[in-house]
Amino acid sequence: MTEDDLRERIGRIRTALAEASEGRYPAPKLIAVTKTHSVEEILPLQSLGVNEIGENRVQEIREKLPGLAGKFQIHLIGRLQRNKVRQIVGDVCMIQSVDTLPLAEEIHSRAEARGIRVPVLVEVSPAGETQKGGVPLNETEQFLRSIAGLQGLDVRGLMAVMPLTDDRDLLDGLFRNMRELFDRLRAVDISGIRMEELSMGMSGDFMLAAKHGATMVRVGSAIFGPRN
Ligand SMILES: *Cc1c(COP(=O)(O)O)cnc(C)c1O
Repeated sequence: MTEDDLRERIGRIRTALAEASEGRYPAPKLIAVTKTHSVEEILPLQSLGVNEIGENRVQEIREKLPGLAGKFQIHLIGRLQRNKVRQIVGDVCMIQSVDTLPLAEEIHSRAEARGIRVPVLVEVSPAGETQKGGVPLNETEQFLRSIAGLQGLDVRGLMAVMPLTDDRDLLDGLFRNMRELFDRLRAVDISGIRMEELSMGMSGDFMLAAKHGATMVRVGSAIFGPRN
C-alpha cells in the first residue's frame, strides 16, 4: 500500500469516528492494530499522527520492538499467558487484556520488581463468551475490587472484544451495555482504580463503538487491508 492510500484510509476512519461520536462523546483515539504487519509497513503511520499501535502476541512484539521502540507506544491487546509477562512488562504502554487474578498478580509482581506501575485495562466479555477471555459483565466490579490493591497495576478502565456477528442490533446493545458498565463503575469510584479508558470497536464496528462512547478503538484491517 502506498503512503497516500494509508493517509486516505486513516483520514476516512478519523472522519467517521468524529461523526459517529459527535454531540455525545469526544472522538475516540485510534489505535492501529499492526499484528502480522512488518516494521516497514508500520513506520509510515508515524507521519500520519498515529503513535499508538496494538499487538496481540508477545513473541511478535519482541521481534518488532527494535524497529518500533521510541517511535510508537505499544498496547498489548491479546491474551497474555502468565509465563510471558516478564518478557513484555516495561516494553508496552498498556496491557489491555487483564482478566484473571493470577495474571493481575503476576503483572503486579513483575512491575514491582522493576519499580514501575503498569497501565492495564480489565477485559470484559460483553456477550459472556468467557472461553475467548474476559470477565463476565456482572462480575466486573468484584474483579476490580480484587485487584485494586495491587500496586504494580495502574488500572485505567475496561476493554471489550465483541462477538463475531453481523447482527447490528445485538452489537448496538452490547456496546451500550459496556458504556453503562463503564459509567456505573466510574460513579462507584473504587479506591485505587481509575475509569478513564473504554477500549472497544474494531474494523467492522468502530462507528457503533464511537457512538456509544468508546475512548479508544482498535482498528487493523480497515487500515492495512485483510490479513491472510
Ligand atoms: C486483531 C484485533 C483487533 C483489530 O481487528 P480488525 O478487525 O482487523 O480491525 C482489535 N482487537 C483485538 C483484541 C484484536 O485481536
